[in-house]
Amino acid sequence: MFKIGLAGFIHETNTFSQTPTPLENFLNQSGFYPELRKGKDIFKFKEGRFNIAASGFMSVADELGFEVVPLVWCGTEPSGSLPLSVFDTIMEMIEESLKENKPFDGLFLDLHGAMVYGDLMDGETEILRRVRKIVGDIPIVCSLDLHGNISKECFELATVMIGYRTYPHVDGFENGQRCAFALKHLLDGKPSFKTFKQAPFLMPATTQTTSREPAKSLYEMIPGVEQAEEVISATVMEGFNAVDLPHTGPSVFTYAIDQQSADQAADVLLQAILEREPQFSVDLFPPEEAVQKAMQIAEKANRPVLLADIQDNAGGGSTSDTVWVLQELVKNHAQKAALGLLWDPEAAEIAHQAGEGAVVEMAVGGKSLPGHTPFSASFSVEKLFDGDFLGTGPMVKDRKMNLGKMAQLKVDDVRVVVSTDRMQALDQSFFRVVGIEPAEMKILALKSANHYRADFGPIASEIINVDAPGAIIEDPSKISYQHLREGVRLKGLGPVYKRP
Ligand SMILES: [Zn+2]
Repeated sequence: MFKIGLAGFIHETNTFSQTPTPLENFLNQSGFYPELRKGKDIFKFKEGRFNIAASGFMSVADELGFEVVPLVWCGTEPSGSLPLSVFDTIMEMIEESLKENKPFDGLFLDLHGAMVYGDLMDGETEILRRVRKIVGDIPIVCSLDLHGNISKECFELATVMIGYRTYPHVDGFENGQRCAFALKHLLDGKPSFKTFKQAPFLMPATTQTTSREPAKSLYEMIPGVEQAEEVISATVMEGFNAVDLPHTGPSVFTYAIDQQSADQAADVLLQAILEREPQFSVDLFPPEEAVQKAMQIAEKANRPVLLADIQDNAGGGSTSDTVWVLQELVKNHAQKAALGLLWDPEAAEIAHQAGEGAVVEMAVGGKSLPGHTPFSASFSVEKLFDGDFLGTGPMVKDRKMNLGKMAQLKVDDVRVVVSTDRMQALDQSFFRVVGIEPAEMKILALKSANHYRADFGPIASEIINVDAPGAIIEDPSKISYQHLREGVRLKGLGPVYKRP
């Protein structure tokens, strides 16, 4: 048996976001992530097939002869930089448990890849520095979200890193399994050589979905690359643009039993990225135009038109409370329209105080983004919800969710789903718990960049990306980077970055 330590520390940090990241977010269930788990509590991930790498890793541990020692696992919804104290507190827990349980034969780390803490310090690089210091020269295999921005130092510190291959992310479980097989290869004493390459341009988030081009065929190449006997693993990272660090952006990394095979595999994937460069561009519609276009299409369509409010995506660290799209839906008298999730604990509380059936004058949303103002109207409180419910779509199927007090508020024929916890609209259950059947709507406005595609894509007639302001800027050439590396193109065929 191999003794394998297992830890997880997951956060996608938007360094331009003002949304705070307190320790409580990690300690409690938050959005996509369960509460912080220690020791044997981590085995809860073995009780089902959860879309989490730790769950997949443990599912094959027995057959691979791993005795898993569960240490600490936590994660929380994307937001601004972690305060130094929050990062240190969680790292101390992980470091303590490593010291208590060492020595190990190997280590599995469930990470994101785009964590930033303190004053623009790279989270994963520091996690690996500290962990490596304690465990020494043993194999460390890391699972990453494909939105990781990976530094060369981080890559060197980990023995093997493997990223998700789907966006919407539906292969967290499989990625854990991939990591387990790679770790077994290393523990068997087989050779491993690695190659790391950065792409020369940034990919706007809306171009990153693996359910359509240009990313679809790119990710479909990975299994082919891995089919070569010499190749152990190949990863394409798309990067997360809302991080002001030199290494932000896409990268490729490969592992093989000899250096030449690793280099070749990386070259093939990098070449495929370069061939697709013109397609990694930006195509958005201002809110008014987007709403009017959606209404025109909806008249003839028999399925909902989706308005993706991509820049107010909680899943990228946005506030998820802007009301630009809501204003336009109401102003244009959109029929059978629903919008969610609007993060507004105050409005949810007022609705719960008033009760179902009440009509309340209220100012919703627009409270978090500097300079933005709420949307005021007379809302009827259609349906209330508070408590646990189960996710139903591919990303969170059977996962226990809890978004605090929620309400369906209605103005004219526009419904708004307000929530107390901040989360992107990636599952139809978020609407159903407050009495809205998404498929019966003509227009669905979703605060999400791509993850909504997994569950809402199949019921949509058309998808329109909206250019409403948020804490995320979709077009990287409009982001005020201070620290990006010089020479990188700010989108496909975009302007070349120069430091100010
Ligand atoms: Zn991601």
